[in-house]
Amino acid sequence: MEFNSNTRLLVVAAHPDDEVLGCGGTLAKAVHHGATVAVIFLGEGISARFPHGQYDSEEFRTQSAIRMEGAKMALNYLKIQDVSFNTERKSCQFDTLPIIGITKEIEYHLERFKPTILLTHNPSEVSVDHRITYQAVEAACRPTRDFVPKEIYTFEIVCSGGWTFDSTFKPNTYVDITPFWENKLHAWHLYKGEDRPFPFPRSDTGLETLSQYRGMASGLQKAEAFRLVRKVV
Ligand SMILES: [Zn+2]
Repeated sequence: MEFNSNTRLLVVAAHPDDEVLGCGGTLAKAVHHGATVAVIFLGEGISARFPHGQYDSEEFRTQSAIRMEGAKMALNYLKIQDVSFNTERKSCQFDTLPIIGITKEIEYHLERFKPTILLTHNPSEVSVDHRITYQAVEAACRPTRDFVPKEIYTFEIVCSGGWTFDSTFKPNTYVDITPFWENKLHAWHLYKGEDRPFPFPRSDTGLETLSQYRGMASGLQKAEAFRLVRKVV
């Protein structure tokens, strides 16, 4: 995964915070090397914490606003301006919607942004939204279509990928994020109220442990791990 001023990097994420958890260090690195970066969020991220269907409360609106504010602050901090939100899709409910609608939305952004590299979820995740996002990207990136990126990678979300019964995520690409670790951690901290004490995976220690674990596999101090799922040369 190489970054320069010709790189157009698109992140297709299910929820605000997935971009920082999955590839925040990589995004900081890409921007540092002159890449143009866009992030699309296919759904919102907090409704699963409320009773199903009960989203008309002050508490819901407050938490939604906090999450949205966190995403804007984190991406602004990472110097990423091209951000698309879709708060209509409720989290952990992508399986109740026709996948064609999600695929079409991704296709729209492929044509609009014309990415050279795409990063998205891997299919071995507890989150049904992450799994469906992967499927929709796979459909949107049919190789006969225009504007399909030449390089497509999947990333992992700690506490979704880490909690599967039988993970099949096998990374084969490691990005050295050692110089950008503090950027990732700072961006994460801008998502208020999302961390909990270790051993919860989205704690500071949990995130650092994963980066070091992936670093051990790649001879790096800290790494983000990806699986290259297609590259056309
Ligand atoms: Zn997510």
